[in-house]
This record gives sequence, structure tokens and C-alpha cells, in this order.
Amino acid sequence: MAEPSLRVLVVGGGGREHALAWALAKSPRVARVFVAPGNGGTAAAGGKIENVAIEHCAGDFPALVSFAQAQDIGLVVPGPEQPLVDGIADAFRRVGIPTFGPSAKAATIEGSKAFSKDFMARHGIPTAAYGNFTDYERARAFVQDTAFDVVIKASGLAAGKGVLIPATKDEALQALKAVMVDREFGAAGDEVVIEERLEGQEISVLALSDGYTVAAFPAAQDHKRAYDDDQGPNTGGMGAYAPAPVATPELMSTIYTTVLKPSIDGMRRDGFPFVGCLFTGFMLTADGPKVLEYNCRFGDPETEAVLPLLDDSCDLAEVFLAAAEGRLDAVPLRFRDGYAATVVMASEGYPGAYPKGRPIAFGPLLDGTHVFHAGTKRDGEAVVTSGGRVLAVTGVDGSLQGALDRAYARVKTVGFDGAFCRSDIGFRAIRHLSEAAAGQGGL
Ligand code: AMP
Repeated sequence: MAEPSLRVLVVGGGGREHALAWALAKSPRVARVFVAPGNGGTAAAGGKIENVAIEHCAGDFPALVSFAQAQDIGLVVPGPEQPLVDGIADAFRRVGIPTFGPSAKAATIEGSKAFSKDFMARHGIPTAAYGNFTDYERARAFVQDTAFDVVIKASGLAAGKGVLIPATKDEALQALKAVMVDREFGAAGDEVVIEERLEGQEISVLALSDGYTVAAFPAAQDHKRAYDDDQGPNTGGMGAYAPAPVATPELMSTIYTTVLKPSIDGMRRDGFPFVGCLFTGFMLTADGPKVLEYNCRFGDPETEAVLPLLDDSCDLAEVFLAAAEGRLDAVPLRFRDGYAATVVMASEGYPGAYPKGRPIAFGPLLDGTHVFHAGTKRDGEAVVTSGGRVLAVTGVDGSLQGALDRAYARVKTVGFDGAFCRSDIGFRAIRHLSEAAAGQGGL
């Protein structure tokens, strides 16, 4: 086999980027994976993975571009949404470096919820009924007159916090005031989407595209609330698993034909082809799957659950390069059988204020498990906490229960002061699987 020669730059420093760097480093084509700025996990990974201490500021990427040119980078993989919305993929493409990520224009599908709702309406993609408003009085009148229960969303990027689900009309009016008048989410709330409240289970589908072809990962379910039984405040995500058993092959096929393919075709026809990972959040309603949101990048912690499901014969660097070069149809995604489950270990206090700098003790490796670092950094020889979500611990197994057991067994071997995690990741799926088995007389 030829010497590995591909040099990759991953941009970001969370669990998602550690998982991406880990999966890319497995490629026999890849010589080196730089992560800017990375975290304690990518610093300690050794082998092909190395951190680069370059931060990016909004819309200003010259230091990263110069680094990529000097280092002969052949593939760039931006992780987070903000640099994508700010045009990081355009900056690399302008200098001819293949980039697996959408242009700023295509990233607007996440950057403006109002834009994404109009896009779905234009292309007949199933989603909740809605209205977009920049005028507070008109928004108030809409809330007052509407027959359905509403959800209020700041249209701009609000770090996952800009969605309010009021219980009554009065609460809805207060929420509207908080977003539009008191500007709780700053400029993100200059425009709001007011939409119909949907009922059902949620799933997330990560799909790769080169602007034409769509290649989906198995559907994942995440856990947004901080504590067991979906109690406590919303977080960035406390765990995930895949494939979600509710996402039957028939449902995935409906999702492909009614949402994924029309979304990718629609963006191309509207003049902003989407190259990268399109993350679609769905509500599985009695009327079929409806889109709650698009994200223009990999989800976190969904990525830490789905990447370990890739078959060993599937080279992620090859897939990303093919997508960046418009030939994804030639390089299929392949998955192993079985399940992956990810448990997030967080710092006490998260998602509020939390301590930093606590040393982390890592126990023995366990088969079928991976520890991806999220909020950690290197401190001399030690690795210490530096964020609210500290580690994402994934188990992989033939059964979902087995994957969960492996993840939780590994969680027990890792520790830092004040660590907490949910103990019920996967509870919906376990219930679904046992009900299905009971229905078939299997229990
Ligand atoms: P989003 O960022 O738009 O996905 O919203 C975040 C969360 O808010 C979703 O994961 C849902 O739990 C909830 N949500 C968003 N839109 C709706 C809706 N139309 N009806 C019910 N819940 C929603």
C-alpha cells in the first residue's frame, strides 16, 4: 500500500471533533490529523493526531488558512456551526483546499430558522405550521389569534438555547417579550419563528452530502435534559444512542424521500448546494415525520455515537474527500451491525456555572468502549476539566443493552471531583424494544 499522505485539519475543540479526528486517523490514507484548537483528548491521543493552538475569530480565518497552506493540508473538516456560518468553508475553498463543510450561504439553513422555515415551505418539506416576525406587535397578534399551541424560536444562532415552549397563551406572550423586547438572546431574537407545537418522539438524522448524493447515518436519539427521567434544565446533550429502534427501515426510507433528498436538491436548485453533514431533527408525529430544525454540521453527542458504528472497511477520510470533490456516489457509507450508546460525564453545576481545572483519573481500557474528550485540557502531564460537558463515553455492542452496559462500565473507571451523568440513557429505546418483543410474544 502507498505511504499515507493525506494531511487533515479538523477545526473545533469538543467531543465531536475528538471523535472526528479519531475516525479520520484510522484511514490508511491519512498521515496526520491536526485539530485546531483541540482539547486534552486530542492532545493526548498520540499517533497521527496533534493539536494546533490557533483560535478563529468571527469571519476571520487567515491564521488557519496560512497554517493549512504551510502544512499542505489536503482536507479540512470544520466542526462547529459558528465558523461555518461565518464562512470558514468558503475561505478554504477560495485557496483551493478541499473542505467538508457548507458555504456560509448553505449554513444559513442553521444560522436563520426563519430562512430554513421558508426554505421548507418553498420545497414542500413537512414541518410545523409557522409565521416569521421581525415586528413585535405583529408577533403578539399572531400568538393571540392562533388556534394552535405555539413554540417560540429566536431565529439566529443562540447556542442551542433559543427555543421556548410555553404552557399557556400568557406564557407565550411573556416568552415573546423576553426574546423580542428584553432581547434575552441578543441579536438572535431580532427575528422570531412562531410555530405549531408538535407531539411525538424525536430523532436526529445525520446525512452527508456532496450537493447531490445523500448518505445517511443510522438515526440517533439524544437526551437534552440534565437529569434522569428527562428532568432538569436543557443542556447541549447528556447522551445519545444509535440506531434508534423507532427509526424502522420504512421510516428511514420515508425520511429520505420526503425530507433528505428534497432538502439537498432544494438547496442546490436555490443556488447554494450543501456540501457537508446536514443534521435534521425530526418529530415523529401521527401525520408522519416533520422537521424541527436543520443543523449545518455534525451533532454533539450524536457524532460520538454514530462514528463508532462505521464499518472498519469504510474510510471516513475517503468519504469526506469524495463529498468535498462532488463524487460521494462512488464511496458508500458502510456500518457494522449492532448499537452504540454514548454517556456524557459533566461537571457539577452544568448547565449553570461549574468548576474547572479538576484532574481526571482514567482507568483501564475496556473492549468495545471509547472515551472522547469534550471539555478537557492538558495541564503538564495531567488532563483536567475545562468545560461543562467533560467526556463522552461510548459503548458498542451487538445489542443496545450491551452497548449501554459497556459505556456505563467504562464511566465507572473514569473519575473527577463532582462528575455526574444520567443513569438512564437509552430508556426510550429499551422500552420500545421490550414492548416490541412483548408484542411478538417474546417476553
Ligand atoms: P430546535 O432547536 O428547533 O430543534 O428546538 C429544540 C427543541 O425544542 C427540540 O429538540 C424539541 O424538543 C423542541 N421543539 C422545537 N420545535 C418544536 C415544535 N414545533 N413542537 C414541539 N417541540 C419543539
